[in-house]
Amino acid sequence: MFFYVNVRDSRSFGEFRQKVCHDCHIMSERTAIISKYASKAAKSLGVGLVALMLLFGLPSAKVVKVTTGLNTLVIDAGHGGMDPGCNGNNEVFEKDVTLGVSLKLGKILRDSMPGLKVLYTRTTDKTLKLWERPNLANNNRADLFISIHCNANNNRSAAGSETYFMGLHKTEGNLDVAKRENAAITYESDYKENSRYGGFDPESAEGHIIFSLVQNAYMKQSLKLASGIESHTNKISMIKSRGVKQAGFLVLWQTSMPSVLVETGFLTNATDRMYLKTNDGQQKIAMGVFRAVRDYKKYLETVGANNGPGGVVR
Ligand SMILES: [Zn+2]
Repeated sequence: MFFYVNVRDSRSFGEFRQKVCHDCHIMSERTAIISKYASKAAKSLGVGLVALMLLFGLPSAKVVKVTTGLNTLVIDAGHGGMDPGCNGNNEVFEKDVTLGVSLKLGKILRDSMPGLKVLYTRTTDKTLKLWERPNLANNNRADLFISIHCNANNNRSAAGSETYFMGLHKTEGNLDVAKRENAAITYESDYKENSRYGGFDPESAEGHIIFSLVQNAYMKQSLKLASGIESHTNKISMIKSRGVKQAGFLVLWQTSMPSVLVETGFLTNATDRMYLKTNDGQQKIAMGVFRAVRDYKKYLETVGANNGPGGVVR
């Protein structure tokens, strides 16, 4: 059973009409907006008018950037400072693994691609507000944003990496990952009043569902990079791939460029944890991500060349 929902493109303010089936698989097509469908869809989802208002009320990145190459990249080490992220059996915390992988990735990129400007959201154990991460990328007109994280699950046998790009979650498991990562804003005492988050409540399941429907103008490029990351890290590291996935991540939604969030592995799994806390393990994951970035850059150049000078990648 299908119904249609109209959602706003968070970058261009254009609107998409999306075909949504009952188990949340989506197919999108750009069409003119028909507002009555949006209302109907919201009722079908059982999330009500308030949640729909949240969707349309959320502030959006306003810059539409034409992606023709890769000149500036932002590496975002998830969590930090007073936000430790997930706890790896009191042996290691997510914020330390994300920083280790991020610094290693940045070094490889700077050594191997000297023309590329590499920026970090943090290089130390520092507390950041969530909005500061995409803000850095937007202010520097970055071409790519990569957020590094680690996963956690009550099921300690869950293991492997997942790379996400912005979109509607297809399983409850994907939603759970987004909920946990979005809960980082609760470390900010004023997050409920902060207009940058548009009243988004990380405790509300309904808010997450509607928030996940917001489409990404850079979906194709984000998917391309995410696929490369899963493929390369799986080949080079001991961490198995759980694939490319979609969910609604606040940190990705506010970026005005292709963006992905890498869950490098599960700190709640003993095998993944042992690997992720070592320099060698972090280096291998960083190398896998680097190779994906390198391939992605070539892809952009190829598509750009095929489209002629200044070609537009859509
Ligand atoms: Zn995280």
